[in-house]
Amino acid sequence: MSAKGTKYPETKTLPKHQPLVGDCIFCKIIKGEIPSKKVYEDDEMLAFHDLTPMAPVHVLLIPKKHIKSLLDLETEDIVLAGRLMYKAQELAREQGCGENGARFVINAKNHGGQTVDHLHVHILGGRLLGWPPG
Ligand code: 5GP
Ligand code: ZN
Repeated sequence: MSAKGTKYPETKTLPKHQPLVGDCIFCKIIKGEIPSKKVYEDDEMLAFHDLTPMAPVHVLLIPKKHIKSLLDLETEDIVLAGRLMYKAQELAREQGCGENGARFVINAKNHGGQTVDHLHVHILGGRLLGWPPG
């Protein structure tokens, strides 16, 4: 986790990533081919610390099913999406954000600022977050 007093970048520094499914970074994290600091795992989802944290708490929650973005959600994914939302708030509370709050962000596609094309929920907290986004 990030130390106190750390400055968090305001803009993304990572290059745009446009993977094929077999080349998806998050699918590789699920398979254990890329290491991650896991926070939670069950049969259908995985949570891990973001590589480039933007806040003292910055966890990513992903479905194990490769869904490209929120804009690619299908009706068969409705129950999974509900479970993801429920788990997101549970993880935020476990990370100590229950009292002061947190931000749950889902960037979708190009204008949404999505850089990894596998649906993910950012769970951000531990400091007062600015608004509006850039
Ligand atoms: P997006 O910009 O698509 O909403 O968010 C992608 C997030 O994934 C970014 O916050 C970025 O720091 C994070 N990320 C990219 N590659 C990796 C990785 O290999 N490991 C982890 N833990 N996070 C990553
Ligand atoms: Zn994937």
